[in-house]
Amino acid sequence: MSRSPMIARTMPALRRALESLRARKATVALVPTMGALHDGHLSLVRLAKRRAAKVVVSIFVNPAQFAPTEDFSSYPRTWKSDVAKLAAAEVDLIWNPAVKTMYPDGFATRILTEGPATAGLEDRFRPHFFGGVTTVVGKLFTQCRPNFAMFGEKDFQQLRVVARMARDLDLDVKVVGSPTVRERDGLAMSSRNVYLSPQERRAAPALYRAMRDSARRMRGGGDVGAVLAGAAELIAAAGFTLDYLEVRHAETLAPLASVKGQPARLLVAARIGKTRLIDNVAV
Ligand code: AMP
Repeated sequence: MSRSPMIARTMPALRRALESLRARKATVALVPTMGALHDGHLSLVRLAKRRAAKVVVSIFVNPAQFAPTEDFSSYPRTWKSDVAKLAAAEVDLIWNPAVKTMYPDGFATRILTEGPATAGLEDRFRPHFFGGVTTVVGKLFTQCRPNFAMFGEKDFQQLRVVARMARDLDLDVKVVGSPTVRERDGLAMSSRNVYLSPQERRAAPALYRAMRDSARRMRGGGDVGAVLAGAAELIAAAGFTLDYLEVRHAETLAPLASVKGQPARLLVAARIGKTRLIDNVAV
């Protein structure tokens, strides 16, 4: 039987727990999450276990990264099943601070990032988002002082933003990206997929299919503009409204007119009904 993870909810409890984990200089990997855990999150945990002796998973639905119009209060919260999954995965510590612990009265600091955070992708549609993410991830890094931190390629721009921030602020943590885990029909796993109606859920895999086929055509020498136009049509025909569909440099996220001779990534955000989905593939 797997041992239950320690659970810390206050800073003193976190410090005590980390001290016991770090005995004999054990390395620590952190997996930041907002809970509602699925196999995508658990793949990050498995990667963390391969890289470090001890694994900490944070579960914190971060109000700072939601706009007032977004789904902070209705975001799925599944604490009991999350703990069971993390126990089965043999995680050592769950860091689950209250909002007031993370943002006590008077909290007045925000980490502002440029570069990948102002690439004109998610930031164009969710202008509050990366400031909230970097502020909370910066705090998680200083609270937990991990040697490694695992982030999903599913949120590709976020991965680039966090890696840049860690380097820029000398946070001495290795940010590690991990491939997107998908449902059998190709839909990228996401805590927000529960918002999809049965009909939307049936339509949703069209997004990945269009992305995968477009990437293949671009690699085969297809004209980027023409391939993107075809993909946009397919995505719209499946019932989505596009926020963006773009090819970017995989490291800098700079716009690319051609994918020849450079690492490229195809990124999409699209809305279906009340749900906004994002996805990306290597080109
Ligand atoms: P979230 O709980 O949605 O904030 O996600 C926490 C972490 O899990 C982030 O680093 C995400 O990129 C990652 N993640 C979410 N969905 C997936 C997925 N389908 N495959 C791989 N990683 C994922």
